[in-house]
Amino acid sequence: MPLSPGTPASPATEAVLKESYERILRRNPGEPEFHQAVREVLEALAPVLDRRPELLDAKIVDRITEPERQIIFRVPWQDDKGEIHVNRGFRVEFNGVLGPYKGGLRFHPTVNLGIVKFLGFEQIFKNALTGLNIGGGKGGSDFDPHGRSDAEVMRFCQSFMTELHRHLGEHTDVPAGDIGVGGREIGYLFGQYRRLANRWEAGVLTGKGLAWGGSAGRTEATGYGSVLFTAEMLKLRGEDLEGQQAVVSGSGNVAIYTVEKAQALGANVVTVSDSGGYVVDEKGIDLDLLKEVKEVRRLRVSDYAERRGPSARYVPGGSVWDVPADIAFPSATENELDAAAAATLIRNGVKAVSEGANMPTTPDAVHLFQEAGVSFGPGKAANAGGVATSGLEMAQNAGRAIWSFEQVEAELTRIMKAVHDECYETAERYGAPGDYVKGANIAGFERVSDAILAQGLI
Ligand code: NDP
Repeated sequence: MPLSPGTPASPATEAVLKESYERILRRNPGEPEFHQAVREVLEALAPVLDRRPELLDAKIVDRITEPERQIIFRVPWQDDKGEIHVNRGFRVEFNGVLGPYKGGLRFHPTVNLGIVKFLGFEQIFKNALTGLNIGGGKGGSDFDPHGRSDAEVMRFCQSFMTELHRHLGEHTDVPAGDIGVGGREIGYLFGQYRRLANRWEAGVLTGKGLAWGGSAGRTEATGYGSVLFTAEMLKLRGEDLEGQQAVVSGSGNVAIYTVEKAQALGANVVTVSDSGGYVVDEKGIDLDLLKEVKEVRRLRVSDYAERRGPSARYVPGGSVWDVPADIAFPSATENELDAAAAATLIRNGVKAVSEGANMPTTPDAVHLFQEAGVSFGPGKAANAGGVATSGLEMAQNAGRAIWSFEQVEAELTRIMKAVHDECYETAERYGAPGDYVKGANIAGFERVSDAILAQGLI
């Protein structure tokens, strides 16, 4: 399949893209998610490379797809019974031309180098789209925090940071949370960094508690941003969120605050899910109960259904995308929405899809949405509110300032509109009106490429 579908590239550009992609496959074996993320970006680039041959001459595609640094380390820790476990830790510092490497840490048993590379690669372009000075990176471990006591999670985080700290710094590399890493984990990681560095260096991690350098609104930012991006897409269709039925997948940080903002803007959100199944709640999700079950008690969505009463039904297994909706917010994990699910959503009349998660929609599902005229917001644009607000947290830390929730939310709203408009306008400029995937990839790529060109052979 050509690497320039829809917008045929010149034979020279197509040949370069093909050669680069084949080399990436060869040199990064067994990393399907990384291949998928790279392919999506390359498929958008033909028109830029055709217009700007200097980017081909400078081998920007090869340079941007090779991480600057990949760190893999052993993480030994002891559980409450005294048994020793050995996990693997990762940090991929992918591209630092725009600022310190920035991207979350994921603790989940599926984490491996390919997953971290896919996430780090996405992060380069997402961070570029925010317009802030942040480079792209990502990290994590195959540690599973589910069912672990606070003391076990603390010992793991301390061991993880004991190795990672030497690679971090407020001007070097600034992690945040992701799947399995929330406020509790960031606290343990920050405490250990402070002990080892003997510095109260707030800007070394984001997602911190409000009393010790965190930013108001960071917890809410990714979910809120995804909804704000959707509101911008709907505006161009002459609509808003009022009265729209919405389905949300996941029940973690991104999902909960997607529900909160969507409800605030008048949508009726009827689902949340986890890896065990989903809940459909005819009266609309009870946000207070959801927060109590997930954030306070760390329970499952089945427990939500049990406590909620007759309006809520728990469906073990199954697909949340079977529930009819005007708007879908995939907010759990990669490749959770496939072509069959997309076809069902389209049949049920979906108008907009906003990726709160990273790469939750498979490539064939994306094509189906676009062919059907569904407004589709790709993760690197739609969920950029989280990292953008991390950037605001870093700015506050650097100035020892504390902004109000209202200040942060106003800035987040401004940034999400700017991200939306840049993707939309870039897509138009390159002959693909309404294609936010192309718009996001091209706009991010151009900003990073120009910085690479300006900084020489790096
Ligand atoms: P959380 O750990 O808070 O929540 C993750 C949710 O997704 C849980 O409900 C979890 O269910 C579910 N989930 C995770 N893995 C799977 C799986 N393999 N199959 C089914 N369900 C799964 O993570 P976040 O909310 O922070 O992250 C969600 C997504 O958003 C990720 O793709 C992340 O990369 C992305 N993202 C997060 C940002 C942030 O600021 N936190 C910023 C930008 C993107 P269970 O408990 O059963 O595992």
